[in-house]
Amino acid sequence: MDDTRPRPAWVREGRKPRVVIVGGGFGGLHAARALSRDDVELLVLDRTNHHLFQPLLYQVATATLPPSDITAPIRWLLRKQRNTSVLMTEVQSIDVHRRIVTADNGARKIPYDFLIVAAGARHAYFGHPEWETVAPGLKSIRDALTLRNRILTAFEQAELTEDPLEQQAWLTFVLVGGGPTGVELAGMIPTIAQQSMPREFRRIASLQARVVLLEGGPKVLGSYPDSLSRQARTDLIALGVDVRTGAMVTNVAPGEVRVGADETIHTHTVIWAAGNAASPLGASIGAPRDRAGRVIVARDLSVPDHPEIFVIGDMAYVASPDGMEVPSVAPAAMQMGRHAATNIRRTLEARPPLPFAYSNKGDLATIGRHRAIADLGRVRLSGSIAWWFWLFLHILYLAGFRNRLSVLIQWAYSYFTYERGARLITDTGNATTPNTSSVRGT
Ligand SMILES: Cc1cc2nc3c(=O)[nH]c(=O)nc-3n(C[C@H](O)[C@H](O)[C@H](O)COP(=O)(O)OP(=O)(O)OC[C@H]3O[C@@H](n4cnc5c(N)ncnc54)[C@H](O)[C@@H]3O)c2cc1C
Repeated sequence: MDDTRPRPAWVREGRKPRVVIVGGGFGGLHAARALSRDDVELLVLDRTNHHLFQPLLYQVATATLPPSDITAPIRWLLRKQRNTSVLMTEVQSIDVHRRIVTADNGARKIPYDFLIVAAGARHAYFGHPEWETVAPGLKSIRDALTLRNRILTAFEQAELTEDPLEQQAWLTFVLVGGGPTGVELAGMIPTIAQQSMPREFRRIASLQARVVLLEGGPKVLGSYPDSLSRQARTDLIALGVDVRTGAMVTNVAPGEVRVGADETIHTHTVIWAAGNAASPLGASIGAPRDRAGRVIVARDLSVPDHPEIFVIGDMAYVASPDGMEVPSVAPAAMQMGRHAATNIRRTLEARPPLPFAYSNKGDLATIGRHRAIADLGRVRLSGSIAWWFWLFLHILYLAGFRNRLSVLIQWAYSYFTYERGARLITDTGNATTPNTSSVRGT
């Protein structure tokens, strides 16, 4: 034992070490659970009161599930942990020298001995933040409700207008980005348009909704093997989606999307699923970051020169031992959360931290109502087998027993009836694109 080391603050002050976790998403929640039996004071900070199961957000956006089915109060999830407190508060900055987290616009200063930062990511608009109001993305419940409002309002507006050009613009849905979120949303909208809506609308019943998926790269689901990516494209086309690869969006404005130099798509519903930017909290840590704003962490997930700070999940850039980048997905965030907890425990026991190794269990994406693709390493699945597998896994991982049961019932109902259980337009202020005259004006 090295006796010359200064004694840690909690030893000098005769208290338990305080671990602060920023973010109660996949990474933060699993870090907190992994520390449930440790002799520490654990504080979980989140700007919302709920943990969100992001993989099913698109089901809220497309009115299949209500928000309460894919969320659970963080306080409730951690209620059995005697060493844990949960605070609903928004963190603005981190003073790594004084070891203080500042929240609620400076009103709250929260000291820490160990810090786990797991504040996730937002959308990136490639230098065009002004596109966001026209083309919202999907990261939070609020985003999902905005999209749900816009999708449902588009049908209402199409029914209202008598101008055929306007009608077509309202029935044109453009998705930007052919990753899993873009593909999943694109696969659901034709079902809404062809199966759920025609029975209730009179003027637009015979009209064809147009769903366009724009992907700048050479294929949809770019991180999947070619065979699955091709299958996804075939499935989308079979559903009636206009899949465009190599299609660069050059402008987004009310009423239209520009593709390349000379194509304009008239639409009032644009959904952004094209890029990620890590939480701006990473900037206040002062460590190097990559182009997506992710903090470049050491192999043990700590911040260089700050062994007491761990950055995990979508906020962290970490290379696997094989040189591959750890992807920004839920299993990686959960594994990182548990690993950061292990390394805090090891530090408290005066043992060296361990390097993180990501265990990739596979990737899944759904296409429409009952098809999916699954890349499980040696095993690759597509079609309805992959969909059943997807369904099983998502039910398994959904937080809270009540949610699981409710989701199963909602899915079964929607599957057999084509009804969309959560078809509410709740905030019309958010729901429409303001300028509806641009179709005729161009
Ligand atoms: C639409 C969508 C679909 C997805 N589908 C899949 C999928 O099918 N499979 C898969 O593996 N992954 C999927 N992902 C990715 C996966 O959800 C993320 O990789 C994962 O959520 C990252 O976990 P995290 O803990 O880093 O961040 P998050 O889970 O995003 O949690 C971040 C938490 O931090 C809180 N927070 C943020 N800023 C602050 C602040 N300043 N102060 C306090 N609290 C703050 C947030 O409220 C949130 O609770 C999907 C993501 C999206 C958006």
